[in-house]
Amino acid sequence: MVFCHCGSTLGAAMKRKRALLIRGGRIICPASGRDEVGDVYVRDGLIVASGEGEAGREVEIDASGMIVCPGLIDIHVHLREPGAEHKETMETGTRSAVRGGFTTVCAMPNTSPAPDTAETVAAILTRVRQAAWCRVGIIGAATLGNDRSTLTDYAALADAGCIAVSDDAFMLRTREQRREALLRCADAGLRMIAHAEREELSAGGVMHAGEVARRLGLMGQHPEAEVRSLEDWRDAWDDDSTPPPLHIAHVSTAAGVEFLREWQAGPSAETAPHYLALTDEAVVEHGANAKMNPPLRTEEDRQALIEAVADGTIAVIATDHAPHTTEEKAAGMTEAPFGIVGLESALSVLLKYLVASSAMLLSDVLRAMTQSPARLLGIAGGTLEAGAPADLLVFDPEGERVVDPAQFESSGRNTPFAGERLPGIVKTVIIGGEIVLDGGEFAPRRPPSPGSDRYHE
Ligand SMILES: [Zn+2]
Repeated sequence: MVFCHCGSTLGAAMKRKRALLIRGGRIICPASGRDEVGDVYVRDGLIVASGEGEAGREVEIDASGMIVCPGLIDIHVHLREPGAEHKETMETGTRSAVRGGFTTVCAMPNTSPAPDTAETVAAILTRVRQAAWCRVGIIGAATLGNDRSTLTDYAALADAGCIAVSDDAFMLRTREQRREALLRCADAGLRMIAHAEREELSAGGVMHAGEVARRLGLMGQHPEAEVRSLEDWRDAWDDDSTPPPLHIAHVSTAAGVEFLREWQAGPSAETAPHYLALTDEAVVEHGANAKMNPPLRTEEDRQALIEAVADGTIAVIATDHAPHTTEEKAAGMTEAPFGIVGLESALSVLLKYLVASSAMLLSDVLRAMTQSPARLLGIAGGTLEAGAPADLLVFDPEGERVVDPAQFESSGRNTPFAGERLPGIVKTVIIGGEIVLDGGEFAPRRPPSPGSDRYHE
């Protein structure tokens, strides 16, 4: 049964919604193993079997030549609201998500105030209901006020509606903290999303420590910062038979991949499109628009990450969408903040660098952006099976566009893909049976409170 966070059933809340038929597309649903040309039926906000959908059909969408798949789910997004609305807001960030084909994003907790108590989580959920164009899951802060010292009450955060907790940008410092955090997560039924970085190996570095950094005369972050941090997390969970309630954010190195592969009963993990597409060479051309943490690595690392996604060692692709202002990014490699935007380019970047290059099957890419993140965090959606929420994406895999940051819905323009010709045009996005993007055009009004839905068992 699917509930919205206020406890009413999603189906009941959407009774008045119209029926839809998405006709003649290539349906790819990794969760149900479907890859075939056919029709998808929607009624009362849910996917329904063909017989049920036929009777009440009111709107038909021609999807011939298109891919029809579950709406994309991004579990690592910095929406910046509250506290840094000059970089992004609930509205601009979630419109950016819809433009990129996402129906659910999960908001990282490095905001001000942070979602660190039931009250602050409730305030952010209110903003979601007021302003979001897609579903938003709230990731709670691992420490109070992101102070890196006092762990928050994870059970209270879970009760308030958080779908995970994270120390992204404000890493836990000690073994005792990490161990206590994992135990609290286990009790609360949440997962800790960890930013894996041993700081003494990265301090002061603005890009990957390697040949390119030396050539540019820039201070580098040692790649071992990642694997040493993974060792720290493993050390904090001294149980070899039970997987820790742990998810490793934005894995960037071959050594990290190797460590995860050998960690039997280990954590889940994600990487981002930019680590799968680019190397530290991108800094030469794009400067601070290719500066993020962890940094872009080497070709060997990139190949190891592609292999890890293909074999499931890394189950999830998430963007780490991190908008900053143009002025901030103009400060140059040393001074500019870390992070790039990703929501409006992720699908196209993966289509070009992984699918068109035959490095990965489209269905495997979509699995890492639909079924896997949904299952991992218990998020509604990620499947086109009957009874699931009608969160769908229709995109043209052949159509191309030149990435123009000036056209982004996001307030952030900081992308290394600016000016690049990429395949994949997002045509239609449906959330809970509501058409939010129609033929590339936004609906005149945002869908009524897409909210923060999740499965409760
Ligand atoms: Zn992040």
